[in-house]
Amino acid sequence: MIYTLKYPSHPIERVNQVVFEFLRNSIPVCAYSRNLFPEWFRDVMSNSKAQAGNKSFEDKFIDLHTEFQKLTIANRQSLFDEFDAGLDIKSLCEEKTKAVILSENYAADLHAALKAVLKDHFYGTALGTNKTIQDKLGTTLRNHYTNFKTLNNSGRVCPFCGLHEYALIDGEAKDDYDHWLYKSKYPLYAVNFSNLVPMCDKCNQGGVKGTADVLHNDDGTRRESFYPYESNQGVQLSVNNFSDVGSLSDEEKEKYPYGYYKLDVVEQDPTEAEKVETWKSVFKIETRFNSYLSSHNKQVKDDFHEDYLPDHPEFTLSNNITTLRVIVSAFRNQLGNPRRKTGVLINKAYLEFICAVGNEYMLYTFCNINLAQAI
Ligand SMILES: [Zn+2]
Repeated sequence: MIYTLKYPSHPIERVNQVVFEFLRNSIPVCAYSRNLFPEWFRDVMSNSKAQAGNKSFEDKFIDLHTEFQKLTIANRQSLFDEFDAGLDIKSLCEEKTKAVILSENYAADLHAALKAVLKDHFYGTALGTNKTIQDKLGTTLRNHYTNFKTLNNSGRVCPFCGLHEYALIDGEAKDDYDHWLYKSKYPLYAVNFSNLVPMCDKCNQGGVKGTADVLHNDDGTRRESFYPYESNQGVQLSVNNFSDVGSLSDEEKEKYPYGYYKLDVVEQDPTEAEKVETWKSVFKIETRFNSYLSSHNKQVKDDFHEDYLPDHPEFTLSNNITTLRVIVSAFRNQLGNPRRKTGVLINKAYLEFICAVGNEYMLYTFCNINLAQAI
């Protein structure tokens, strides 16, 4: 990750108590009753009305109760214990020996009932719009987002990609929350706020994070992952090679119209190596960073010539490679903080690359120095 987010403790977290108490109280053989819920939530159930063609919120909890009661008492206890042990999402990300609750392994119908009530209804609808829930909690989801925004005010850029900004302007649509353990596989954590993290819409969509599983590799083995609210040391970027557009295949030319830069993204702290690999894989980091650099390096050049140099009359471009390295390095050093400006780590790595020995022709080109005169 590019930087660490701060976790906003907030009264809305109480919604997770509903899941906890409902499951725990449903372990013994029992009929459905509103007494299975925390007291404050019972009014939510009594106000629950079926919409045309759709079951009511309460009916969906009744379905869940029915499916849960079909398990043996021992399995109900075991599912609850696994759920309880995983409430701390951070430990699941950092300790890959720790078991993860997979309700689909208990019963397919139970898993479907959990998705219907927790993922689709509780998270998908009720949390944002149910007035009884908002009255009982004395807060809203929007207020949680505002709280997140205030607490993380020094970061404008999405920490998962560094390429796009969060939607931070009041009056505009807020960014969606990502379920770090994705909700169709882990519906039990659909309303657990330590599992929810605002994410830029480019990262959050299918094909990038979407339903990627941060806890498991493609072969089903467990892997370590960053927990977004736990401090991390970040990553180091370097550009290590460049292929001119003429040497690329037709398919590559379309993807990298200005040539292909080989970018390496590695951990700053060796103990975070596996977490960095998971992050790179889940967020398609190398492809996206390469594509960004290929399409944006002309913009970096424009910023240098049109904005930076006119503001710095002390610098004059010349044929002298040492002078050019000094000027471009000074430009590089003022590119800003990757928490507040997009693409900073990539642009810095690019400028470092063109200043390296062996890449003089790229530096001359960047500085618009006529090669015939320079060499
Ligand atoms: Zn992002």
